[in-house]
Amino acid sequence: MTIHPIGHYINGKSYAGANAATQAVFNPATGAQTGIVDLARVEDVDMAVAAAQKAFPAWADMPPIRRARLMNRFLNLLNENKDDLARAITLEHGKVFTDARGEVERGIDIVEFACGIPQLLKGDFTDQVSTGIDNWTLRQPLGVVAGVTPFNFPVMVPMWMFPVAIAAGNTFVLKPSPTDPTPALMYAELMKEAGFPDGVFNVVQGDKVAVDALLAHDDVKAVSFVGSTPIANYIYETGARNGKRVQALGGAKNHMLVMPDADLEKAVDALIGAAYGSAGERCMAISVATLVGDVGDKIVPMLAERARDLKIKNGLELDAEMGPVVTKAAHDRIKGYIEKGAAEGADLVVDGRDFTVEGHEDGYWLGGTLFDNVTPDMTIYREEIFGPVLACVRVKDFAEGVDLINAHEFGNGVSLFTRDGNAAREFGRKIQVGMVGVNVPIPVPMAWHGFGGWKKSLFGDTHAYGEEGVRFYTKQKSIMQRWPESISKGAEFAMPVAR
Ligand code: NAD
Repeated sequence: MTIHPIGHYINGKSYAGANAATQAVFNPATGAQTGIVDLARVEDVDMAVAAAQKAFPAWADMPPIRRARLMNRFLNLLNENKDDLARAITLEHGKVFTDARGEVERGIDIVEFACGIPQLLKGDFTDQVSTGIDNWTLRQPLGVVAGVTPFNFPVMVPMWMFPVAIAAGNTFVLKPSPTDPTPALMYAELMKEAGFPDGVFNVVQGDKVAVDALLAHDDVKAVSFVGSTPIANYIYETGARNGKRVQALGGAKNHMLVMPDADLEKAVDALIGAAYGSAGERCMAISVATLVGDVGDKIVPMLAERARDLKIKNGLELDAEMGPVVTKAAHDRIKGYIEKGAAEGADLVVDGRDFTVEGHEDGYWLGGTLFDNVTPDMTIYREEIFGPVLACVRVKDFAEGVDLINAHEFGNGVSLFTRDGNAAREFGRKIQVGMVGVNVPIPVPMAWHGFGGWKKSLFGDTHAYGEEGVRFYTKQKSIMQRWPESISKGAEFAMPVAR
């Protein structure tokens, strides 16, 4: 099998890199190595930042409507190449093709949102703050901004960042995960094809060396990060110490509280999809089912049956419901958590450890795993497993469920299943979590609402994308002006247009 070299994309061109350090890239469904990715050195990062810095003044000066038109061309190209991108995700990440397509579509939503940048950048204006003086605010781009992203959404998560940043007039350096590095190069090419000037969007592959170089670089004005909590914390502290604006989204442990009055069939459907979709490798996956009163007795057997029946296979097969987990290391880590859960006294109702797929014996397979009677002191309750493992915790009532969720150190997403409007209202108001679903298992906000958790799930002040994203990538300027004489440019006869 051919092993593809995977490099960087700097200043409108592919760049192989020095190959001083590299990392193997695998197809998780087969366990075969498919690529080898160059890990950027400090010099490579410097090259990318220099290209972005050079492109910045002209890009920032371009009227927003013209930037939006390029974004619109990019949007069309993404729509034309949706399936190729989704396939590239499946080949390196392992998630099923239909889910990968959904990821691409949710990324495209943000590009669509970014096409509205002229409206989003409108400032405010006060006429006559004093006699003959007006005062207004405008928002200007920061300069070169960087994005550091996780393996689990190689298209969507970078698109939480760069379309908004670039539309707002910044130039961008993306450092994707080295586990699935190919999709970033594909959309870098599409940005070029759409007509974005060289240097506006750059990709450096790599890991800690590249990230540290971005965090230390004086010309990088802001860093957006999405990944695990320890690294998010590190990025936030280091970036802030170096004078950068930082938003760092971290890990999660998302609960679904199921009330006795809920439609239990629908709650089971929702739990199965949200716990095992993408093999549980979503930051909004539900990993804890919090079951009120007798709900546990009713639905644990239903969940067990469904977990055993999941169609787990190579994600390129269109009827696959769940693919492999991403790496051998992830496979071993998740297995270790399952062992620990059983050892700490949880009931292992469905054990996915020995699962394999015929013809794909070297893939990183795990079956859907279900624990019951999990308690808050157990490791599998406290820590993020990031795999197809659902923990059921039983609580006596709504209040105990809410207290349990609020006491958890993570606060990314949460869901409530109920038919009671008052419980839903109370839940929305009292829960200490950034994104809340009521009868919606995975409440990922739409492009214009913004994404972000609370507590250890987000370090920084603003959520990703939406208007919060526009604010993050721009700084406000206030101008107060007195204008004793007006200036006449003479007569103009043609309809004025944006130039
Ligand atoms: P990760 O933290 O290992 O890696 C994220 C990024 O940080 C990658 O680009 C990686 O190369 C880089 N990195 C890793 N170690 C580093 C170090 N020591 N110094 C500097 N940079 C480093 O995360 P992952 O395994 O790729 O992704 C899974 C994690 O991401 C999970 O914890 C998941 O919850 C989280 N996640 C969160 C969100 C969210 O919106 N909150 C979204 C997606 C994923």
